[in-house]
Amino acid sequence: MADFSLELNEDQLQIQKWIHDFAENVVRPAAHEWDEKEEFPWPIVEEAAEIGLYSMDFMANALLADPTGLTLPVALEELFWGDAGIGLSIFGSGLAAAGIAGNGTPEQLMEWVPQCYGTPEKIALGAFCVSEPDAGSDVSSLRTKAVYDEAKDEWVINGTKAWITNGGIADVHVVVASVDPELKSRGQASFIVPPGTPGLSQGLKYKKHGIRASHTAEVVLDDVRVPGSCLLGGKEKLDEKLARAHEAKKSAAAGSSGKQPAMATFEATRPAVAAMAVGIARAAYEYALDYAKERRAFGKPIIEHQGIAFMLSDMITEIDASRLLVWRAAWLSRNGTFKNAEGSQCKLKAGRTAVWVTERAIQILGGYGYVREYPVERWHRDAKIYDIFEGTEQIQQLVIARAISGLRIE
Ligand SMILES: Cc1cc2nc3c(=O)[nH]c(=O)nc-3n(C[C@H](O)[C@H](O)[C@H](O)COP(=O)(O)OP(=O)(O)OC[C@H]3O[C@@H](n4cnc5c(N)ncnc54)[C@H](O)[C@@H]3O)c2cc1C
Repeated sequence: MADFSLELNEDQLQIQKWIHDFAENVVRPAAHEWDEKEEFPWPIVEEAAEIGLYSMDFMANALLADPTGLTLPVALEELFWGDAGIGLSIFGSGLAAAGIAGNGTPEQLMEWVPQCYGTPEKIALGAFCVSEPDAGSDVSSLRTKAVYDEAKDEWVINGTKAWITNGGIADVHVVVASVDPELKSRGQASFIVPPGTPGLSQGLKYKKHGIRASHTAEVVLDDVRVPGSCLLGGKEKLDEKLARAHEAKKSAAAGSSGKQPAMATFEATRPAVAAMAVGIARAAYEYALDYAKERRAFGKPIIEHQGIAFMLSDMITEIDASRLLVWRAAWLSRNGTFKNAEGSQCKLKAGRTAVWVTERAIQILGGYGYVREYPVERWHRDAKIYDIFEGTEQIQQLVIARAISGLRIE
């Protein structure tokens, strides 16, 4: 168990600098181009793979070799300071990896996580597929079904997934499906769909408001057959979980048995996602601060007008408060347990901060903040997604409300 400290250790400082340099020299200069193109930034992800940033080893070291839990949020804040669309293209596979790590056996983890990254010579991608056209926040309503074909020891998956980062272009798709619809979220399981499996295809590719370099698309599953070994956690564990859930349902305590596969993943990844939002907010704040020192109005730099200086004071205060919540949640997730949904608290705060700070940055730049020649409007567009994915603002509030009240608030 590590003590909570705000002082980063030598390794963390090195990683922070290494990623900051990459963000400053490679990611940020490319950000406008890929935002305009709205295409997956393969050359930048390749560069990230060449330096070892896009790799399973980096993720494993950042997560496993770090008792403080702070390395990953520190890394993500720097990368997303560079650009969120490219940042998500580099870290999107991490969500699939987290889905495998959270629900799979150690053997499944060793087999499939490396395949979410590939090698610098041949990059691979992972996608974590939960959301559906009619089931986003309400994960218990998933319609995608997985049916076991005992004779062949295969699962047959049918359904449509919506809004999937890397959907259809990924090599490994981790799909959450219902195996026992009567049990709602307790009757769900996660499956690996290996590269090249027939029946999986990309549907609509979305044209988005922000993070436009990141690929987001529907994933269509049409009689997709995967071997029994692709059920994460294995059949025995699933059967036990379903039996317990049926028992609990009979005794009217359905809420108390087993963890939901999608929720388990999101709990673990929320501090990391919140750190991305902190990175965007910091980028906008720093840019606005520099601008305010240069831009003159009424005979002096605009920062010398209290109205602008106070805005910047509030911006840094909100960013620092968000980062503290992120670091607390990241530390707790390695060294304790969440009591008051601290993961959701940090995601809620950081998402709101990113949206608010980037909007204030536009205000400080005036007309220049509103045009695409300057990065601030892009940061504002990018920030909004942090109020939406990995649980909307309202879903974070719901999770916190349930944690502090112990009640099933709807
Ligand atoms: C760019 C992008 C990338 C994404 N990547 C992925 C991915 O890789 N994998 C994946 O599985 N999903 C992904 N998503 C999906 C994302 O997680 C969902 O969009 C999100 O969970 C919200 O679901 P929804 O869009 O269906 O909104 P809805 O659930 O329909 O919500 C609509 C509104 O109702 C509110 N609401 C819903 N329920 C309640 C309630 N009980 N109380 C109060 N308010 C409520 C919501 O907060 C929201 O404001 C992505 C989405 C986007 C836009």
